[in-house]
Amino acid sequence: MINIKEVADNVFMLKIPVPINVDAVNLYLFAGEIPTLLDAGTNTPEVLEAVHAGMKKVGIKKLEQVLISHWHVDHAGAANSLAQEGASVFAGARDYQEWTSFVQGEAFTRLNQWATREWGVPENVIPGMLKISKRLQTFTALPDQVNLLEPYQTIQAGDSLLQVIPTPGHTAGHLSFYAAKDSVLFSGDMLLPDEIPYPGIWEQEGIVVSGMPSYLESLNRIENLPSRVYLPGHGIPSNNLKARCQEIRGKLNKQMLRHSPAESVYASASSLGGEAIHPGLLFIQLHYVYGWEQLKKKVG
Ligand SMILES: [Zn+2]
Repeated sequence: MINIKEVADNVFMLKIPVPINVDAVNLYLFAGEIPTLLDAGTNTPEVLEAVHAGMKKVGIKKLEQVLISHWHVDHAGAANSLAQEGASVFAGARDYQEWTSFVQGEAFTRLNQWATREWGVPENVIPGMLKISKRLQTFTALPDQVNLLEPYQTIQAGDSLLQVIPTPGHTAGHLSFYAAKDSVLFSGDMLLPDEIPYPGIWEQEGIVVSGMPSYLESLNRIENLPSRVYLPGHGIPSNNLKARCQEIRGKLNKQMLRHSPAESVYASASSLGGEAIHPGLLFIQLHYVYGWEQLKKKVG
């Protein structure tokens, strides 16, 4: 049984379970003139089967395009398999870089060095984090050719015209897509109804930065779109875009103010314990803590 429903005119949300630490990912199928899939799911047979079943259900014989909101395995993973079936893949330039470095394994070597040196993560904790990264790596593959999307360009998907909105924060090159005709925002993991996406870290001009400050700027950017409805990468479509942006901003500010830095980011992150902001992973808690600390520095 596939879980599919029409969320805008000729646009269908396909909810697919994925073998990682999230409930399910939402992919969006655009039927019509240019059959398109927005986000691809993990590169696993179950996901591909569900995508094919969804296509059949809405009368798509062949996908022309796959658009990627961000490079994470639950969103970009199956893009290469779909490219091999003839679809053109589109992603942001910055995330294409990150995706490449993840697939090639440089990204997590770099991250683990960083985690030890700057976050004080003990050496003996690194193999556990590395193991998670290596497992995630098996759920994605890089297409031979990726078409790069420019900020604010438009691209047709199905019968809709989507504007590419840069929304960095969760990843360096995260993109959201705004459909003016239906007045909806496809928000990827940038805006979720049930959780605050963890801020990524990335290198910028030779130094490693938290995605948290960029994330707050992205919230400002999408908050003023003339739209109430957003269709997220996880969870259900929601009609309180502006209120949700404000709520998240308020929560992040509160968390930042409440946070008193311990001797290391690792010490803070592991003491979050039962009050965890996200189910589980230390990896994710490290990113939140580092984000709050960067915000504190900015606020002074
Ligand atoms: Zn996701």
